[in-house]
Amino acid sequence: MPARSRHPAAPHALVAGAGIFGVTAALELRRRGWRVQLVDRWGSGGAAPHARASTTDVSKVIRMDYGADRWLTDLAAEAMAGWEGWNRRFSLPLFHRAGFLLLSESPFEAGGFEEASFRTLSELGRPVERVGPDALRRRFPAWNAERYADGYLNPEAGWAESGAVLATLLEWAEASGVEPIGGAVEGVEPFGHGARVVVCADEERRAIEVDAAVVAAGAWSNRLLPQLARQVEARAMPVVHLRPSDPDPFLPQRFPVWGADIGRTGWYGFPLHPEGFVKIGHHGAGWSDDPDRADALPEGFESRLRAFLADALPGLAQAEIVHRRVCFYADARDGDFWIDRLPDAPGIVVATGGSGHGFKFGPILGAMIANAVEGIEDRRLHRFRWRPGVAPGKEEARAEGLEP
Ligand SMILES: Cc1cc2nc3c(=O)[nH]c(=O)nc-3n(C[C@H](O)[C@H](O)[C@H](O)COP(=O)(O)OP(=O)(O)OC[C@H]3O[C@@H](n4cnc5c(N)ncnc54)[C@H](O)[C@@H]3O)c2cc1C
Repeated sequence: MPARSRHPAAPHALVAGAGIFGVTAALELRRRGWRVQLVDRWGSGGAAPHARASTTDVSKVIRMDYGADRWLTDLAAEAMAGWEGWNRRFSLPLFHRAGFLLLSESPFEAGGFEEASFRTLSELGRPVERVGPDALRRRFPAWNAERYADGYLNPEAGWAESGAVLATLLEWAEASGVEPIGGAVEGVEPFGHGARVVVCADEERRAIEVDAAVVAAGAWSNRLLPQLARQVEARAMPVVHLRPSDPDPFLPQRFPVWGADIGRTGWYGFPLHPEGFVKIGHHGAGWSDDPDRADALPEGFESRLRAFLADALPGLAQAEIVHRRVCFYADARDGDFWIDRLPDAPGIVVATGGSGHGFKFGPILGAMIANAVEGIEDRRLHRFRWRPGVAPGKEEARAEGLEP
């Protein structure tokens, strides 16, 4: 027997996946008066985020530097204002305005990612500062200033404690009446104007009929919606934490969030974490793997990392790697999110495709997803519409892959 809503008057939504897309959607739908069930495969301990969710981990970059893409720059600026609002609501700030330092090995050239970001933000009156080799040497001494001919600092950007943010949003969701279910969504299909969702929880399988189902299952979304498979792919990306023997040069005031010629090299990272390590990731083509199983970093990754560090950040060249992680992008071919009703099933909404940059939009994702659910016109959704056959390559340049 399908389960029936306990709130017959309220429309009923089930959200599959409690990463940043799912939890913000659940919060906003609940705020708008929906009965909301939020399903994730978290453990029996309760509403902890799933350890393999992209949204977990200690940090994510919060920036509005998007090259010449004025539209995404504006959208990220809107989200940035939302981070300030969240910081006021969090018991302790979880977004840290540590700045974002973008370095380039060659002098800025028109059209390059760093040059275009700097120009776009300058035209918008944002307080970005050019950082040449002298300023790099003086203000940010961990860097080998011989290697970087140009760069800029965006002092408004920074990083957020992603896992802690998600845990807090889950608490807010529960407090607002969202009903968490620890279990796996096994299938979603159209049912009348809504959807029927098969959920396996506590070793029991049941079908739940809802007015709307939101598939926000990150890198697993295309398992529930196979029609997404050629458009949004699970791509594995490596992350490491290194413990420097001398942490001083890596303190946030001397070592902001950074991208080191990122479109060409893929390397980016964070200031010294309060627990004494520096997190570094590689944003590239990544590799294809199973998001439920992959744990090993590709062979050759660590030697490439060490070569980069020896040249760019000598103080980290010998630092011990204290943590290794494989994290999955729900990688859209063009880098843009997918937030839309399915064309032939308006009771099913997809909310995924965060690729390497979805987290920072957290403060505005919920409203966009809820607008898609309620069929409310939202100019921001045009770019995130259902778009099979989209050509790859619209996203900013990516470094080469790290096939295992
Ligand atoms: C290495 C790495 C670095 C990144 N860096 C940044 C950054 O610096 N800045 C930034 O803005 N973004 C960054 N991102 C991207 C950002 O993290 C993602 O876009 C965002 O977190 C995706 O959120 P999500 O809700 O779509 O997916 P997830 O957080 O992965 O959540 C999906 C959830 O769905 C659940 N789920 C899956 N299948 C099922 C099922 N069948 N039933 C029930 N539950 C299910 C999973 O358990 C999971 O909890 C990064 C991503 C990675 C991997």
